[in-house]
Amino acid sequence: MGAALVWVYAAAAVLSALYAVLSWRRRRLSPLAAPLALITAGATHWSLAQAVAAGASPRVALLATYAMFPGVAMIVAGFVWHTTVFTGHRLDRLRRRQALLLVHPVLLMLFVLTDPWHHAFFDAVRAAPGGGVTAEPGPLYWLHTVYCYAMIGLGTARGVVAMRRAVRGHRLVFVIFLTGAFAPAVGNLVSIFVDMGERQVDLTPVLFVGTATMWWWAERSGLSARRMPVAYKQVIAALSDAVMVLDRAGRFLDVNPAAAAMLAALHPASAGHVVGRPWQEIAGPQLAPILSGPDQQAITVAGGTVYDVRVVPLRPDRGESSGTVVVVRDITELERLRAELTDQAVRDGLTGVYNRRHLNTVLREQVRRAAAEDRPLSAVLIDVDHFKAVNDTYGHATGDEVLIRLAQGIDGAVGTAGTVARYGGEEFAVVLPGIDARAAADLAERWRQACSLVVVDTPRGPLRATFSAGVVQTAPGASAEDLLRHADRALYAAKEQGRNRVVVGDLARAEGLQVAGR
Ligand code: GH3
Ligand code: MG
Ligand code: MG
Repeated sequence: MGAALVWVYAAAAVLSALYAVLSWRRRRLSPLAAPLALITAGATHWSLAQAVAAGASPRVALLATYAMFPGVAMIVAGFVWHTTVFTGHRLDRLRRRQALLLVHPVLLMLFVLTDPWHHAFFDAVRAAPGGGVTAEPGPLYWLHTVYCYAMIGLGTARGVVAMRRAVRGHRLVFVIFLTGAFAPAVGNLVSIFVDMGERQVDLTPVLFVGTATMWWWAERSGLSARRMPVAYKQVIAALSDAVMVLDRAGRFLDVNPAAAAMLAALHPASAGHVVGRPWQEIAGPQLAPILSGPDQQAITVAGGTVYDVRVVPLRPDRGESSGTVVVVRDITELERLRAELTDQAVRDGLTGVYNRRHLNTVLREQVRRAAAEDRPLSAVLIDVDHFKAVNDTYGHATGDEVLIRLAQGIDGAVGTAGTVARYGGEEFAVVLPGIDARAAADLAERWRQACSLVVVDTPRGPLRATFSAGVVQTAPGASAEDLLRHADRALYAAKEQGRNRVVVGDLARAEGLQVAGR
């Protein structure tokens, strides 16, 4: 019997050691691997000590009996670690408490090493007739056992709670986990409480090989990783969106770190403890519209930050609201991009002034408004003179440069008085609301003179460009198209009359064309 036991323990030690090494090698791949390595290392230690205790002389067996306990301590610490990770409890808290797990092994070592003097751990240790030793447990032994089972009970309870919370059909991994935890515990209880005659056999470390096999398989098969329950609190804490939960009376029930930071930044008086306080106490003038506004809104606070705010009522049983969840997202960058894209959609890519599509929209609106308000409205069409020759002589790039300089010159001169758009290749249109044909022609004349002074430096020497313009004022009943058509006629006349001039057309008397200025 003694020899057979030695072999059983030795085999368990070898298998446990194998699992310990294999698990340790996977420590970077799975958060469950390191605690499993610690458990199996403890089982290796315990089995080895049992093998020696079962086969050696009473003196050595006595030493081996004491030497089992570091292995037991490793298993308990590993078990707590493993269940914490397995049931999805917060790892950062575990890290802070890891040192606490060392208290038990250190005290255990201290008591076990000094036991020959105080015998508080083992009352009496006798040589067993068939080899090995029989030890009578003392008070410290029981204290240690109670601690071990308290930890195992805690881990098991966490496992049961997590299993109950898991979605149906996702519970297999918890069954494997609990079975793995139960087998050695039952073996240990039998060895402690069931009297097996003179020779007490403790198969607990051997049973741990079964535990290790089950847990190893569950971890390797990916079952654990897929089924590990998601701790919602962790997910919400990790969000960059501010999440605030308020009860029905408007008191903060919970805020995630992003919300705490946002509250403190928007209203410094709210910094510190927020939970339990009514929102009116926390909310400064900037926050009030966030927390009391409609279900969905975008608000801009001082400093230009834009927030998207969503308020969702909490109705746990589809009944009365039990509070609200407020989710606030910083959309400043998104809004900036949206504004940029919107702006790009209405602008000409080369010159930066508005494009023809936008001109049409603006012009239609302005014509309607001018008619409704009985106010003047003028349009100016501008066309660069002999632009083909500019391109041919100086190259397309220089041509582009001329267009950019001209467009920006006119745009700067018009400012907020009107809308400047690129109407075609080297043609521009200016809409001037509230301005009659005469004043518009004066303005166009000023731009023409300014343009003729612009010098573009080219490798072939300085280049001056001129333009011709047609001006027309809207008349009752005229459409935007009529206005542009008559402006184009006036422009044509300006070209006909020798270019580099402004011609005013008359919509009412379509044939009447007058040269402005010179
Ligand atoms: P006119 O005085 O009668 O207006 O003569 P023009 O040469 O300006 O008239 P035309 O319409 O024959 O030529 C316009 C030229 O403008 C032809 C075209 O290659 C050029 N053009 C159109 N768009 C661009 C552009 O984006 N960049 C450059 N560099 N040239 C352009
Ligand atoms: Mg042209
Ligand atoms: Mg031209």
